[in-house]
Amino acid sequence: MSHSPLAPWLQTQLESLLTQRGHAWLLAGPSGLGQFDLALALARAWLCENPTPHGACGMCGSCHAVDVHTHADLAVLMPEVLSLELGWPLDEKTQDDLDSKKRKPSKEIKVDAAREVVSFTQLTRSRGTTKVVLVFPAERMNGITANTLLKTLEEPPGEVKFILATEAAHQLLPTIRSRCQGHTMVWPAFDEALAWLKTASVQAGEVDGKKAPKSLLEADLKTLLTAVGGRPADALVWIHSGQAAAMAQSWQALPKAMARGDVSALSDWLPPQAVDALQKLCHDVWAVRAGAQPRFFNASDLPANAPAAASGSGMFALANWAKELAATARTVEHPYNPGLMLESLASRAKIALNAR
Ligand SMILES: [Zn+2]
Repeated sequence: MSHSPLAPWLQTQLESLLTQRGHAWLLAGPSGLGQFDLALALARAWLCENPTPHGACGMCGSCHAVDVHTHADLAVLMPEVLSLELGWPLDEKTQDDLDSKKRKPSKEIKVDAAREVVSFTQLTRSRGTTKVVLVFPAERMNGITANTLLKTLEEPPGEVKFILATEAAHQLLPTIRSRCQGHTMVWPAFDEALAWLKTASVQAGEVDGKKAPKSLLEADLKTLLTAVGGRPADALVWIHSGQAAAMAQSWQALPKAMARGDVSALSDWLPPQAVDALQKLCHDVWAVRAGAQPRFFNASDLPANAPAAASGSGMFALANWAKELAATARTVEHPYNPGLMLESLASRAKIALNAR
């Protein structure tokens, strides 16, 4: 769990946050902009024994304890699935329950975990002068969990500081939002994000690859970053999965395959990914027909427009398709028959893309 340097656009935000007072921050923005990394860097700087205006020193005992996820004055409150994924320790009882398969790890932040955090804030400090509670993603607190935290958030005992990081601020209780100072996550410029992704992909190859790392082509990285709407941490997920090159290839082939109704282009995808991709395709085809730039695909990968495609009926077909996809997206987590669902998605795509 070594500490890799913060992405440059996050570093700038960290330095700005460190100049401001505040005991409770809400870092808000869409997924993939690095909320959690920024939150952790802020916590690390607050807890550091020798902090600088640029953040934590990275050398002291406190920094080390944060890096190995064992700092006694840092409570990280997240859904159990995410704790397991990111390697943050669970309390003993939870770990026992999960080890003995009594239940599955929870996707929400549990009220029990929030109660533990409240008692954590009331205990005396063990290292320095500050304690930090980090909540991510804060929107995974249901009403009861959020209310458990509310009073402590409002009147934190002693030197307790809070950082809530969210990918959906609108889903938070207004009472939680109003007790935090808001910080809106900054979007990195495309080229800045691409450069960061290039470095990260080389590192990922060195860490994950047993063989010599096969670095990704810049064109593939560009395709991935475009596919996720320019949110670098979302593109990194693909890189860590080891499927980045294949993913970039299928992304480029997808629009024309869908215009042919070729379901094999979707065969490696989970239904939620397929629906997300088709929503992006629908968006881009619409944009191009309306004379704007595509956002998620390369213009040259999109199916050629028939002369009458931007006609009333062609656009009407796209609008209907968009509506259907939005409805499907709400129920797609547990399809009755995934294969059948992909087939029907492909044939619907073909009709919508070819209507004129
Ligand atoms: Zn330090």
